[in-house]
Amino acid sequence: MEKPTIGITPDVTVADTHVGPTERLQLNLDYASAVSAAGGIPVVLPPNLEPADALALVDGLLLTGGGDIDPALYGAPAVHPETYGIAPARDAFEIRLVQHAIARDLPILAICRGIQLLNVALGGTLIQHIPDAISNSLNHRQHELGIPVNEPAHPVTLIPDTLLARILGTTSLMVNSYHHQALDRPAPGLVITAYAPDGVIEAAELPSATFVVAVQWHPERLYRQHPLHYALFAALVDAARHFRTRHRTPLPQR
Ligand code: MN
Repeated sequence: MEKPTIGITPDVTVADTHVGPTERLQLNLDYASAVSAAGGIPVVLPPNLEPADALALVDGLLLTGGGDIDPALYGAPAVHPETYGIAPARDAFEIRLVQHAIARDLPILAICRGIQLLNVALGGTLIQHIPDAISNSLNHRQHELGIPVNEPAHPVTLIPDTLLARILGTTSLMVNSYHHQALDRPAPGLVITAYAPDGVIEAAELPSATFVVAVQWHPERLYRQHPLHYALFAALVDAARHFRTRHRTPLPQR
């Protein structure tokens, strides 16, 4: 059977090169490695692609981590001093890409910034800085505690009978954590599927879609040492394979 293709959204940065500032794509290789390991073909999607052209290439989407989303896109009156790394071209591209993908029922796995992007694209809002919004919150930046990011740092509790709980086969697990923003008001139709002990939203999904699963943690950094997290990539690739079978099978010759 043909392998499904998984579009991956890279970061957009301005690199300081020897010829001056240069716009560049940037992607942690772990995302592509996880897709390959699960049997998919990773395809990097630069933000100058038209969403319809991008989606003509791929059978599924992996929305990756990165800098914070422009708070203006979810109606926040001000940019919090801790908000960083806003990339307007990336925000605009990914929001249109997600809206097109959901309209086609394309499978989506959203990671870290990805869950936040998904929520904003569908009309939800974000907490700009967790310690300011939740008193006695956990430190969701585990690197500040000296915990390597390929090791889990805090537990999450999953909501039973969700797609996420079915994929992972449990309602509690340990996850890694290096974010300072989180979902605030969930978008219409988006269902919360996991919480940290301090109440921070750690996962969400869109039940009206065949496969739209989003997590605040980074399974691409965990799946080698902690194989339970591999199930997320296996589920994405499996959903993409079904999408490909439904939508890309050539018509029989007459
Ligand atoms: Mn966390």
